[in-house]
Amino acid sequence: MSMTRTTAIVTGAARGIGLATTDLFLAEGRRVAMVDRDADELQRVAAERENVIPITCDVSDPEAVAAMARRAVADLGEVHALVNNAGVADFGPIDECDFATCQRVMGTNLDGVFLCSQALSPALRAVSGAIVNIASISGLRASTLRVAYGTSKAAVIHLTRQQAAEWGEHGVRANCVCPGPVRTKLAMAVHTQEIIDAYHDAIPLNRYGSEREVAEVICFLCSDRAAYVTGQTLAADGGFESTGVGLP
Ligand code: NAD
Repeated sequence: MSMTRTTAIVTGAARGIGLATTDLFLAEGRRVAMVDRDADELQRVAAERENVIPITCDVSDPEAVAAMARRAVADLGEVHALVNNAGVADFGPIDECDFATCQRVMGTNLDGVFLCSQALSPALRAVSGAIVNIASISGLRASTLRVAYGTSKAAVIHLTRQQAAEWGEHGVRANCVCPGPVRTKLAMAVHTQEIIDAYHDAIPLNRYGSEREVAEVICFLCSDRAAYVTGQTLAADGGFESTGVGLP
């Protein structure tokens, strides 16, 4: 890592992929603002780590995001990376997805990325920082089970390209990571044994990924090793996207 890349902000950092990403950034020597709406869990994991700033924030709330951005910039000084990772999932077909559920999923998965990126763009531009947005393989392929989720993630892929196109002149890079299935709370709340078996069959590497494997890709894209990479969507999915097999 360049010695000048010393800070990062990670949303949804209290557990799962966000926590693994936080730990990799810390191992790189970065100071990390850990953002999550789960105040208790955030305080618990932050207390176990050094060099972190826990900030409780619901990323779907514009005022809370504005306050989070002010606090993060004040405490970090410079913002070299923003990882928009906070996410929630729905489960079920279109006809069973009520509007409130749809809005809840869009609020975190899409509005959250929009709000956090916009609030932090002045700080990112100031130092030619990097954004990594976390979408999903569900944003690349249709599924009968994740209507609002897949739609929100497809929009995040486009928003990433828009950010890269608009902010590139300021040296800001924006890329998107699409994880395949990882055994986090989010996934395992809805993955039945039938879905787990179907994924194992459909994924060329025949297994779920780990939080660490996804975090490695995120940290690479935030690093100067990816200095000429922007506007890209990278699937960390064991090869699932390279096959023609549909989502369970
Ligand atoms: P997780 O449920 O383990 O962690 C998500 C974290 O985000 C939690 O700490 C939660 O409190 C936080 N969060 C949720 N809504 C928030 C909000 N409005 N404001 C602030 N914090 C909020 O989930 P995960 O699997 O680690 O998911 C991380 C990202 O990876 C998500 O964007 C998810 O869609 C994506 N993803 C996960 C998988 C998978 O299989 N686990 C696959 C593809 C994509």
